[in-house]
Amino acid sequence: MNSFYHSTRGKSENVTSKQAILRGIAPDGGLYVADWVGEHKLDLAKICAQGFQETARDVLGTLLPNFTEDEIASCVEAAYGAQWDTPACCPVTPLGDDWLLELYHGPTSAFKDVALQMLPQLMGVARRGAEGEDKKIMIVTATSGDTGKAALEGFAGVDGCGVTVFYPEGKVSDIQHLQMATQKGDNVAVCAVRGNFDDCQTEVKRIFADHEMAERLAREGAVLSSANSINVGRLAPQVTYYFDSYAQLVRAGAVEQGDEVTFCVPTGNFGDVLAGYYAKRLGLPVRKLIVASNENDVLTDFLTTGTYDRMRPFNKTISPSMDILVSSNLERMLYYFCDGDCELVASLMGDLATKGSYTVPAEVLARIQEVFACGRADDDATRAQIRSTWEGLGVLIDPHTAVAKSVLDGVERDGSARVCLSTASPYKFSADVLAALGEPTEGMSGFECMDALSAKTGTVAPAQLSALRDAKVLHDAVCDRQKMGAFVESACARVFL
Ligand SMILES: *Cc1c(COP(=O)(O)O)cnc(C)c1O
Repeated sequence: MNSFYHSTRGKSENVTSKQAILRGIAPDGGLYVADWVGEHKLDLAKICAQGFQETARDVLGTLLPNFTEDEIASCVEAAYGAQWDTPACCPVTPLGDDWLLELYHGPTSAFKDVALQMLPQLMGVARRGAEGEDKKIMIVTATSGDTGKAALEGFAGVDGCGVTVFYPEGKVSDIQHLQMATQKGDNVAVCAVRGNFDDCQTEVKRIFADHEMAERLAREGAVLSSANSINVGRLAPQVTYYFDSYAQLVRAGAVEQGDEVTFCVPTGNFGDVLAGYYAKRLGLPVRKLIVASNENDVLTDFLTTGTYDRMRPFNKTISPSMDILVSSNLERMLYYFCDGDCELVASLMGDLATKGSYTVPAEVLARIQEVFACGRADDDATRAQIRSTWEGLGVLIDPHTAVAKSVLDGVERDGSARVCLSTASPYKFSADVLAALGEPTEGMSGFECMDALSAKTGTVAPAQLSALRDAKVLHDAVCDRQKMGAFVESACARVFL
């Protein structure tokens, strides 16, 4: 069986899963995909009888076929151990008539830990093999808030690797900012950028395509790679919690093995919900994947009309990790729904780059709509949802989760069990959550809001967020978009020389 990955925009060059992880993005600007995903289904009965770590081994072993069983096992052990505040890693809890999949029990209190505790382990293995030639790897990543800290936490101290994080200045929460600015480690670099997240992400993509910079770095034995959700090594770990949450529902007696389940996913870059689609291809009984958007509702329009149009105002919302106009991972979904027609995908992406929009053929849209539903919630709906979920169900949720819950409440029940993905601890966004509960926040610091939220609800903030109170700010660099490349090169020089 072919076990290679190739670009969404061309099938000529095959790479192993290790190479795909080391490179991040394909040389032609496309994303790495595999045609064989789904030829082999996972054993659902086995998965229903085992825990998160075992399922992670099964999922990763299937999606990353050129890692050995031992390599995968040691990566799983390192990524999903005591740094999680519950042995289950991603527990499922009741949410009224539905279920909440809590993805925020990792070291940075956001769902990105599921992937970013694993990716550095996979990269560490890959760089030591024939594919990696022991090169030094500088991770460069753009973040709308949560990825940055999760990448810093995952890569800090990892041998032979460095990490550089860019975030849009003033567009992340107080706590998110402190989480990044206080990051320790000799191999980390953090810089704020004057602009929005799309500016950061577009410039990072340009840096990856800068051949002259690549040559200069190669002379020092270093290469750039990505930790953004386009990396196969981030996508694959996220498939685990779709299977594992299903297993939890079966064990709780909420569904019979084989019953279909609907998942509602607060969506930005389309990585999380795409992992749900991979799970479906791998044999998970999925009824619908509901793509929930905030006011940046480019995906709602796309999934409704077939036209993706990024030429619209960028809205700053209270769910900042979803403030995205170009959802990179959507390209992978298009690839599969265009039946692997790379030319078509390349021409759609060309339209996006030159005209700012593209339209998929009607039959492609129809097939997409069989799997993906969608909905949007603006900030007012999000705040109302936080309050009603707390007052009505006694469950405290963050603004991203509230977007999903609001969208889910608007979808008619079809008899399938429904899981709402919860992507961040409410304490990462204490001020907005507190305000949504009707409490005053005027003039209060992030920490005062955390204390007030705790007092109001009787819940406890994650220990690593409380600890930020006494942490020292170590990173205060700010730059214009044009200077990001130079910042990366100086970080490489400092970390690797
Ligand atoms: C990143 C993030 C999302 C969006 O996930 P995508 O994979 O980009 O769609 C949602 N909520 C939170 C809290 C996040 O950090």
